Amino acid sequence: MIDILPIRTQRTTASRLTDLDPANLEFGKVYSDHMFAVDYHNGEWQEAQIVPYGDMAVSPANSALHYGQSIFEGMKAYHQNDGGVALFRPLDNWARLNASADRMCMPNISEELLMQGLSELIRIDSAWVPTSEGSSLYIRPFMFATDGFIGVRPSESYRFMIFTCPVGLYYNKPLRVRFEQKYVRSAEGGAGYAKAAGNYGGAMYPTKLAQKEGYNQLIWTDATEHQYVEESGTMNAIFVIDGRVVTPALSTSILDGVTRRSVLQLARDMGIPVEERKVSSREIMEALAAGKLEEAFGAGTAATIAPIATIGYEGNDYDLPKVGPNAFSKRVGAALDAIRSGEGADVHNWMVRL
Ligand SMILES: *Cc1c(COP(=O)(O)O)cnc(C)c1O
Repeated sequence: MIDILPIRTQRTTASRLTDLDPANLEFGKVYSDHMFAVDYHNGEWQEAQIVPYGDMAVSPANSALHYGQSIFEGMKAYHQNDGGVALFRPLDNWARLNASADRMCMPNISEELLMQGLSELIRIDSAWVPTSEGSSLYIRPFMFATDGFIGVRPSESYRFMIFTCPVGLYYNKPLRVRFEQKYVRSAEGGAGYAKAAGNYGGAMYPTKLAQKEGYNQLIWTDATEHQYVEESGTMNAIFVIDGRVVTPALSTSILDGVTRRSVLQLARDMGIPVEERKVSSREIMEALAAGKLEEAFGAGTAATIAPIATIGYEGNDYDLPKVGPNAFSKRVGAALDAIRSGEGADVHNWMVRL
């Protein structure tokens, strides 16, 4: 990659790397030494900076805090077997960041700004990219309004930032989930397809209620009939029914996950039929009763594949069959791992080396 943007860089004089225990990487607890930041005002992005990770000042009237103009992305960089570092489908995240920005009346980020920010930041903190099997560097790009003004209108100034944190092998304990048929995460015409901060805050209360009942997360259903599957927690929901991979079709209420997209592509590559369409809770429960629901899982960057073991529906719990080593979710998870580590052929050119 050619550097065209000047990035003003201030390196830390007190690296925290020695405090890091690579055998014990907990998601979202420890952040790498540096962060990337660039401010937007007068209609353009200003000089980009890389500075030591740390707190920052915001106005109490900051409009992101009051009215929620705040969006984020989640992506990962992987240590390669030959010693390098590569990102998984970063341009998909770039496109989605700008789709979220458009929905929230926020400015777009150019490909150069994101990719150069990422490559400089990860180069400086390359010692933070973990090397053990299944580990990665989780990357959190995000943008928020910075006007100190409490009138309700799109902010005129913004900040775009990136920080990273090393994460270990995600232990996929099979999930207990239940259909949510009262509360909704998002509605058609809303902002559910955007990675906008408020979507997550609004989902916490119904999720908390389900957790009190012993579930890990919810299967969200549509806002009109409360029948059709939307997503599973903050992951896309994917089912294997009678030898076919079935997942809700994308809409304005569903987030277009990069993991979902990759799983569907790999299913097609394996010659497995893929159906993107409406999936009702009834269809799922009938398939389960008939022994035709082979697998159900959530798909997202953090966990990759999160298998579902139990589904709650109308007050009763139903167990899915145990998944064997040859299950689709296992094979597709292994295929993704192989592509990400550089061991498997990357036929779709998903990996971008730094
Ligand atoms: C981020 C996210 C996903 C998964 O997207 P990936 O690109 O696969 O990480 C799914 N649903 C929601 C609501 C999300 O926020």
